[in-house]
Amino acid sequence: MKEIATILGVPVNPYTMDEAVEKLTKDTLAKKTNFVVTANAEIIMMAQQDADYKKLLLEKTDMILPDGAGTVWAGNYLGYTIPERVAGYDLYLRLLEEASKKEIPVFFFGGKPGIAEEAAAEGKRRWPGLKVAGCRNGYFSAEEEPDIIEEINRSGAAMLFAALGAPKQEKWLCKYSDLLKPCLRMGIGGSFDVLAGKVQRAPKWMQDAKLEWFYRLVKQPSRFGRMLALPKFVMAVRKEKK
Ligand code: UDP
Repeated sequence: MKEIATILGVPVNPYTMDEAVEKLTKDTLAKKTNFVVTANAEIIMMAQQDADYKKLLLEKTDMILPDGAGTVWAGNYLGYTIPERVAGYDLYLRLLEEASKKEIPVFFFGGKPGIAEEAAAEGKRRWPGLKVAGCRNGYFSAEEEPDIIEEINRSGAAMLFAALGAPKQEKWLCKYSDLLKPCLRMGIGGSFDVLAGKVQRAPKWMQDAKLEWFYRLVKQPSRFGRMLALPKFVMAVRKEKK
């Protein structure tokens, strides 16, 4: 058992991508529930401002993975061993690949109307065996929530990908954890937008150079406010070490 890294009070499991994919696929086939979060610096900083969110991450999740160069840096800087980054989007694609091989039905929940369907079509193009049990956009009223849960459960999906953005997706998955039937529940932010080709991911060399944040900032300048979380995160981690 590897030592869990506690970064600003958030417990991060130091799995590699391969280990996470293997465990989550195996658990899903064995009908074991996993509520998965890929925690980047922004999520960890959100948890500093939002006590309910921090409590949820601490007590209600099954696996928190190190997303983003910031989280990997922080874990290692604080003396833990975090072998690599497990980015939410990459994990989502790897799980789709496994789901297609093992015939595990998946449900795409979130994004603007039509985007989950477009992401599903692209998923089926990449992995023709992929079984998309259902799609539902992420814009709804509280009154619609029981119907959404019913739709997800009736679909027979065993993996539920919720793309509502953090912390909304985690709060939603947690609120309905006892009612939802899919074993794997994971928040994936804007991943449907990327798979559907609406938003571009940074080129591989920029990801490797730990510059994905910079690419996103140039492409979506409106994210500037959100990105201030990054330097604040670095300062908070340095302070924690002291
Ligand atoms: N979204 C949604 N419902 C909402 C708010 C947001 O489905 O009420 C979707 C939005 O369309 C986008 C995603 O959630 O696809 C959030 O994307 P963002 O880039 O903020 O997430 P990140 O990848 O940065 O976590």
